[in-house]
Amino acid sequence: MSCEYVLSQKGHNLLSFQGCLFSKTSEKNGRSYWLCTMKKNRCRSSLVVEEGQIVSTPKEHNHPLSPSLVKARKVQNKVKEAARLTRDPPSTVISESITGVEEVILAKIPHQENLKQTIRRIRGCKFIIIYS
Ligand SMILES: [Zn+2]
Repeated sequence: MSCEYVLSQKGHNLLSFQGCLFSKTSEKNGRSYWLCTMKKNRCRSSLVVEEGQIVSTPKEHNHPLSPSLVKARKVQNKVKEAARLTRDPPSTVISESITGVEEVILAKIPHQENLKQTIRRIRGCKFIIIYS
């Protein structure tokens, strides 16, 4: 199975697999080891990745899966990417990123005002570089 990655809030790669997110714990001999991000629930489900392919079958999770959380994360990534790549006003960036997104998923992404702040923060760095 091939891997699909999503960026975490802190900009790290998370591995998205069957409605769950995994974060990398270690890397050895060309293999990387990923642990379910719900580890605070003491979930021990983990994945092994070799050459961009998932080579293990994860243990069952001890919590319900949340594909909508994964999708919500993707929407947030889309907003951040558009913030970097375009000069559109924040409200346009947000409305274009959430077009066609289901209601359940919208409920899981931050409030519009928070998203706008994120966009300003991302662009703020860029302005300093351009105009200094
Ligand atoms: Zn889990």
